[in-house]
Amino acid sequence: MPDTVVKDFIRQIISDDVAAGKHGGAVVTRFPPEPNGYLHIGHAKSICLNFEVADEHDGKTYLRFDDTNPGRESEEYARAIESDVKWLGFSWGDRLTHASDYFERLYDCAEKLIRDGKAYVDSLSADEIREHRGTLTEAGRNSPYRDREVDENLDLFRRMRAGEFADGEHVLRAKIDMSSPNMNMRDPTLYRIRHLTHQRSGDDWCIYPMYDFAHGLSDAFEGITHSLCTLEFEDHRPLYDWLLDQLDLQHRPHQYEFSRLNLAYALTSKRKLSQLVEEGVVSGWDDPRMATLAGMRRRGYPAAAIRDFCRRIGVTKKGNVIEMALLENSIRENLDAACERRMAVLRPLKVVLSNYPMDQVEIVTAVNHPHREELGVREMPFSRELYIEQDDFMEEAPRKFFRLKPGGEVRLRFAYIIRCDEVIRDDAGNVTELHCSYDPDTRSGSASSDRKVKGTIHWVSAQQAVDAEVRLYDRLFTVPDPAAADDIMAVVNSDSLQVVAAKLEPELAGARPGAAWQFERLGYFCPDAADFSDTAPVLNRVVTLRDSWAKIEKQALQQAH
Ligand code: ATP
Ligand code: MG
Repeated sequence: MPDTVVKDFIRQIISDDVAAGKHGGAVVTRFPPEPNGYLHIGHAKSICLNFEVADEHDGKTYLRFDDTNPGRESEEYARAIESDVKWLGFSWGDRLTHASDYFERLYDCAEKLIRDGKAYVDSLSADEIREHRGTLTEAGRNSPYRDREVDENLDLFRRMRAGEFADGEHVLRAKIDMSSPNMNMRDPTLYRIRHLTHQRSGDDWCIYPMYDFAHGLSDAFEGITHSLCTLEFEDHRPLYDWLLDQLDLQHRPHQYEFSRLNLAYALTSKRKLSQLVEEGVVSGWDDPRMATLAGMRRRGYPAAAIRDFCRRIGVTKKGNVIEMALLENSIRENLDAACERRMAVLRPLKVVLSNYPMDQVEIVTAVNHPHREELGVREMPFSRELYIEQDDFMEEAPRKFFRLKPGGEVRLRFAYIIRCDEVIRDDAGNVTELHCSYDPDTRSGSASSDRKVKGTIHWVSAQQAVDAEVRLYDRLFTVPDPAAADDIMAVVNSDSLQVVAAKLEPELAGARPGAAWQFERLGYFCPDAADFSDTAPVLNRVVTLRDSWAKIEKQALQQAH
């Protein structure tokens, strides 16, 4: 990171620690996803932070799966997470680990706590434990099993491990303080019995550590220096520290919290995203409307643009909701610089140039990028029959409509000025075709083409056009905070996907997934990697050209007042 950039509070802490020689100047971080779903844009913030701060100090970052909940987790999710982190541009080298790698060591730590009188086996039911916990205003009560002897605790814990008890019959709890104002310190559960096959350790275990127990200790085992997590773990830090205090491990990590990324009109919760997948609202975790990294990749968002977005939103402790416009601006900026221009018509209206020779095909030259001359030019066929965009023609046009209207003139980009002479309709009265005439003296770039008209529109030559299915996406929800809705299904935008049969300029024939272009006046588009075929190409609109979100926000505001 350049020195001129203002450091966020976490980067400041880390720089100070490095300067002070803490941990021998080392910076080791980790990104610890639970493999119970696909990663979303919120995770991207955490991934970028963890990998980038380590990188800024020649440090290391672990990708550690927090796999302590068999039943909810899967290897499929783990593989998807790995490929998303890689795609985002980060590499963990040989530091791919799992909480389950440490089950034996964690178990040993638990036995040590028992031997030291710091943990006990509780035989209350889950409901009774809850009743004994008290409330925010009322102290909890000690369990009648709290004063079990060390030997009895050890014996019971070993028998828990050996599978002698049913789920829920006993738990292991830390012995801290049932009257602590911090609920997390009221003898939190460290282990529970779950007779479930674990995706990695199989049936080796029937007791599994709780997140709070496994997490801090795994940090210590791996030599994590700065354990960066979101604010909801702030109240867990005393427990994190307490556990490390009781166990004299060689290394002492420290936890720091920052605020979660919330994106307006999107969901950043794996649980809720998985509901959309299960109920078939979307085609899968990688549906291009999902705020998952897999969805965004398929939609055509460049990884570099997502990293740029994460840098721009910064890292603070303030809770906030980021406008979709900010993310889309990063996408646009990236694509504007990177993408060549092409012409395509999304909703075709046929134009016949009655004064153009029947079988003539003329080649016009189009620039590939307005600001990057090195990207050169391409050739486009121009002929008697063309397609233009339906909404570039209006019959009863207002005065300021500078596109095509009956008797009016418009320039076809890179080609000629045409005039609309006649409107052709079907029996139902729909406009099916326009008969126009072109002015041969107005060819773009030719010496005599100084005649000017107000409007310029895009077009493709009908005969050579490539047919493609184009998918146009809108926000997936009708409200800015879908997570707050009682019923997520009630706030799904039923118009979030529109499919159109488009006509593309012939240069786009044979395009493969991985490419992206700006279609002039329409936005950025890319082949859909999942549904694409050579005979029936499918394209996604990545993002529109201008910020349609700002408009939506403004409307929403106006309606609210
Ligand atoms: P979810 O509710 O979507 O399941 P989670 O926090 O349970 O989110 P984890 O897999 O446990 O998901 O998260 C891995 C890491 O990503 C954690 O360190 C967590 O703090 C971070 N993280 C999750 N969501 C966000 C977010 N919206 N913004 C920033 N960081 C996040
Ligand atoms: Mg979690």
